Amino acid sequence: MADLDDLRALLDQVLPRRTDQTRTGVMGAGSDDLDTGRAYLSATAAGGWHVPTWPAGLGGRGATATEAEAISQVRADYAVPDLYPWLIGLVMVGPTLLEYGTPEQQGRWMPTMADGSEIWCQMFSEPDAGSDLANVAMRAERDGDEWVLSGQKVWTSRGSYSQWAICVARTDPELPKHKGLTMFAVPMDQEGIEVRTLHQMNGDTHFSEVFMDGVRVHDSDRIGAVGEGWRVSLTVLAHERSGGVITAGVDQVGLGGPLPRWLADLRDEAKLSDAVARDRAMRAFVLEQVSALTAARAAAEAEGAATPGPSGSGAKVRNVEVYVARAELVKDLAGAAGMLTTTPGHVEFLTGPSMSIRGGTDEIQRNIIGERVLGLPGEPRLDRDVPWSRARKGVL
Ligand SMILES: Cc1cc2nc3c(=O)[nH]c(=O)nc-3n(C[C@H](O)[C@H](O)[C@H](O)COP(=O)(O)OP(=O)(O)OC[C@H]3O[C@@H](n4cnc5c(N)ncnc54)[C@H](O)[C@@H]3O)c2cc1C
Repeated sequence: MADLDDLRALLDQVLPRRTDQTRTGVMGAGSDDLDTGRAYLSATAAGGWHVPTWPAGLGGRGATATEAEAISQVRADYAVPDLYPWLIGLVMVGPTLLEYGTPEQQGRWMPTMADGSEIWCQMFSEPDAGSDLANVAMRAERDGDEWVLSGQKVWTSRGSYSQWAICVARTDPELPKHKGLTMFAVPMDQEGIEVRTLHQMNGDTHFSEVFMDGVRVHDSDRIGAVGEGWRVSLTVLAHERSGGVITAGVDQVGLGGPLPRWLADLRDEAKLSDAVARDRAMRAFVLEQVSALTAARAAAEAEGAATPGPSGSGAKVRNVEVYVARAELVKDLAGAAGMLTTTPGHVEFLTGPSMSIRGGTDEIQRNIIGERVLGLPGEPRLDRDVPWSRARKGVL
């Protein structure tokens, strides 16, 4: 395809080719680098190469799934940087805007997501609304053409340097909890927003608690209808779980292809000379292959659908399992040197536990699989039909 030659020529100018020595970061762990990713996105934006399936004019090139796959195979030959800081925009908010955004919102926000000039964060979780996200207490009250938002969010990844947040807030406390929510895009640089950085055990300072006090959001920045916030939230989360956010940056395994880099490294470092180590390595390798197949199946099921289905939860659980198995193996095989914080793989080892929490915990993914894939009976949900204000006061 002539276009792919153009892409190769462009990437040759902006990125090194991938070699056996190439190591890219994963999920931003251990890094706050924004320059490399922004330079890559800015260079590839005019051709719509990074989000090729987005419409031309909105940051993409209107590619089919097959064309996008061919493009991603070309990209795989290059050391594409870890784009974690941009993923909330690129993987979650952008696709959600294609479903719920107005043409004006799409035109205003998607091109600047694609060229890396604006970073988005996701303000969903609150101290009392994590797994039970529908319990969000952040208030949004209408005032003419504006909404006034007050409350607290927490675990807001990249909150300290995002330009925009996608934020779910309660617009009607007298409706049951899932029904009184509305989604907004909040400009982060304004009066009334205080972002306090939180430190993770892997050393990262990527997430924050965010306090909002009387923050004004114009009604034209509302995403979806008033009261439709739960449906919009589920769409954002479906894109997060099924797609790129949890898997992004992880070297994709080719089924039946060459050994993945982490395994080749262990072999080259002579860490696999005893049978127990080889056995553990093979278990992690098999898990990785199963994970790739699960992700491929979820992607195939999602093809053509505006929003990925619940099988993305299976892909997320598998992917986390692989990440943790690999990180623990590399740490264990480092022997006594593994006690040092400078040993390769240390940051990934300390990042592992967070993987099974972010994007919804393993337990929540299993609940989704049980109820929506396997058709098992649902959990008792006593507060489902009760006004949120009453359930909140413990009236049940
Ligand atoms: C690194 C990281 C980045 C994050 N980034 C963001 C972000 O950018 N934006 C954002 O909004 N949030 C973010 N989060 C928050 C994340 O979505 C929540 O932590 C997660 O949904 C769990 O909520 P919680 O922490 O309140 O735990 P809780 O909901 O209090 O859960 C506590 C424990 O109870 C279990 N549990 C709860 N309910 C059930 C149930 N019904 N059945 C079985 N078990 C259950 C959970 O699995 C968990 O083990 C991030 C989290 C991490 C770790």
